[in-house]
Amino acid sequence: MFCVYLHVPFCKKVCDYCDFRVMPSQSKIFAEYADLLCKQIVSFSRANPGLLASAKTLYLGGGTPSELPAEFLRQIFDCLALEGLDISKLSEVSMEFNPESTSRESVRNAMELGVNRISLGLQTFDANLLKVVGRSHSVEAGLDALNLLTSTPNLQVNADLMFDLPGQTVEGFLADVDRLSDFPLNHVSFYGLNVSPRSRLGHRVDRGELAVNEDLYEPMYMGGVEILERKGLMRYEVSNFARPGFESVHNQNYWNRGEYIGFGPGAHSYLGKIRYYAPEIYPRWRDYVKSGCPESALSVDRLRREDEIMELLWLSLRQSKGIATEDLEKMGISLDKSVCERWISRGFLKQGNLLNSLQIKSNLSLNGRGWIFMDEIVTDLANSYSNLE
Ligand code: SF4
Repeated sequence: MFCVYLHVPFCKKVCDYCDFRVMPSQSKIFAEYADLLCKQIVSFSRANPGLLASAKTLYLGGGTPSELPAEFLRQIFDCLALEGLDISKLSEVSMEFNPESTSRESVRNAMELGVNRISLGLQTFDANLLKVVGRSHSVEAGLDALNLLTSTPNLQVNADLMFDLPGQTVEGFLADVDRLSDFPLNHVSFYGLNVSPRSRLGHRVDRGELAVNEDLYEPMYMGGVEILERKGLMRYEVSNFARPGFESVHNQNYWNRGEYIGFGPGAHSYLGKIRYYAPEIYPRWRDYVKSGCPESALSVDRLRREDEIMELLWLSLRQSKGIATEDLEKMGISLDKSVCERWISRGFLKQGNLLNSLQIKSNLSLNGRGWIFMDEIVTDLANSYSNLE
């Protein structure tokens, strides 16, 4: 499958935990950004005729795409259409929203362009924690946005929460999950906070002003999973939960190692077993686009066989369906039975069968506390596989 990603690098205010290269929204730069993005799209399309027309999904992420005024969104969608991407034929058109830029008008504008799925960055319903992590919205704004989105017909909605925030209790996080799951949502994501040393929050943790209690990660994660699954939102990836049939098509393409093109500063692409990374810093991305998008300005990662095996293990095991024995065989490897047995006997891995395209395939997937020890398990498997003769 081939998918398209657009990176919008603007946010109303940069959150204290953020370590992405985002810029505070500035109306004077929106027009330039939209022109540059369209130039990048056209340049790709001319070099790869027909490829955009084969896309199955479009995802606008950031940053905060909902910060971009409607006229510039329209300009970008028009450009994609002119280059052959028929938005009406896509199975999923997702856009990330933050509560402060969610309004009847912004939702209507997005939907008129063809957006059929909105992902809302809520993070928590705790007013104090919103301040601790430097989010710019209030609890009320989050609830208003959630009410508006979940009552909009013909729109799929995801909401994101975060956990293991400084000062957050297990009860507090589980209350957030419980409250969120009372809304008529078909998709929820939650992520443990990763304190980046280069973020403002990271500096405060370094200075000892705030602390993250890593011991709470497991009870928060396991408790959150339990609540969501009891309410019919099933884990299909380590941080993503959906009612059957509402899993994100676009994100599954990443985890299944499908091809995609990313446009915008810092956007990644994966084409023909090569990963490309566009310049992340805005002025460098601007220079790259202005100079005609030369491949020489991209960081390029040509995957060797070992890299592909590693990716297959990481990206498959993070999904509930796990890794199919058939996929390992296609890659010419088999996993070390004694290593698998060791994790299976602890209940951290399980062997099973998976119905896929009307075929039953044997698979290996994470189980129980294995989801907490995912990194360790994958590293262990990756260090011990053998090549098939
Ligand atoms: S909304 Fe997301 S991308 Fe924007 S500043 Fe906050 S964490 Fe960073």
